[in-house]
Amino acid sequence: MKLETLATHAGRAVEAGSGAVTPSITLSTTFERAPDGTYPGQHVYTRASNPNRAALEAALASLEGGPKALAFGSGQAATSAVLQALAPGDHVLMPDDRYHGTRFAASDIYGRWGLDVEYVDMTDPANVSRAMRPGRTRLIWVETPSNPRLRITDIAAMAEIAHRHGALCAVDNTWASPILQRPLALGADLVMHSTTKYIGGHSDVLGGCVVLARDDAFAARLKQEQLLIGSVPSPFDCWLLLRSIPTLPYRMRAHTEHAGLIASFLSEHPAVERVNYPGLPSHPGHAIAARQMSGFGGMLSIEVRGGAEAAMAVAARVKLFIRATSLGGIESLIEHRASVEGPGTPTPPNLLRLSIGLEHPDDLIDDLRQALGESGGRD
Ligand SMILES: *Cc1c(COP(=O)(O)O)cnc(C)c1O
Repeated sequence: MKLETLATHAGRAVEAGSGAVTPSITLSTTFERAPDGTYPGQHVYTRASNPNRAALEAALASLEGGPKALAFGSGQAATSAVLQALAPGDHVLMPDDRYHGTRFAASDIYGRWGLDVEYVDMTDPANVSRAMRPGRTRLIWVETPSNPRLRITDIAAMAEIAHRHGALCAVDNTWASPILQRPLALGADLVMHSTTKYIGGHSDVLGGCVVLARDDAFAARLKQEQLLIGSVPSPFDCWLLLRSIPTLPYRMRAHTEHAGLIASFLSEHPAVERVNYPGLPSHPGHAIAARQMSGFGGMLSIEVRGGAEAAMAVAARVKLFIRATSLGGIESLIEHRASVEGPGTPTPPNLLRLSIGLEHPDDLIDDLRQALGESGGRD
């Protein structure tokens, strides 16, 4: 079945009894046993499982093409579950450009707990091969396209290096969504999402998930963490996320189309020093992105001529774009990343990150044109 059909039907069945076409929200935290002691609905207690979470997990597994998905209360909780499934002393490779919260969780929290996390430039697989420590490296964590510089990493190459060394390959697939990129089909062992972003798509629900390539011992450990640490999403959050999934393929198409037009416009604008968008043929990761993605996505970043001050001024002048953090929603957002990421960040000080929404691209381009200044940098 095609993704659009899966997205419309996965995790949704007409409810027995009421005939409800749209699922109900089950708020009950506890479920009755039958006289023989079994649980007819398969649910016992909501921290362990709940009908809305089970439906969401079924839909996420189906979209990523894995046998099992686990939903968490945030993307960070999903990332934490994966890192906690490792053992103190394990060596983990992460990309040098990636979501800053992943770096802080990995180094500040799991570093103290004994994980040995090393950051490498994964755009060149040779760097990753060189950094592997035989018998100690347990995980290669990939994020592609990466936040905020839209670096592209070859997922199949990372999975191959991981497997050659008996390690796992995990991919943070938040920016591409399962509509544009399916890491499990490229050999990855697990996929993580902040479902807060494109999957939720409306900037109104926080969530995360891990989808696994195999329902094996590692999957059982993650399931145990979800149960015992208890960072689970509420039934309403699961319901909202499932409600968003049928439109995901169509939203991704529009986000991608608009971002492509805006990237072309920006790449010719004299006030813009550099556009980071993998859809541009000049992007160093363009060929790999074209191979492993079915579209280049709705995220881009620009480096504004004139430094941090000029970039801040552009962010202050936009009228249609909203100056706010996060991404993947229906509305376009713009953000000066370095000031969010804090001191010591490798993000260039003149970088603005843009999440391209579902407004008409002509209006978005008009807004950027006025914010960048008609004659900026031309004379
Ligand atoms: C937002 C984000 C996260 C963290 O997810 P939360 O839902 O905010 O916890 C992780 N990775 C990427 C790429 C993100 O954009």
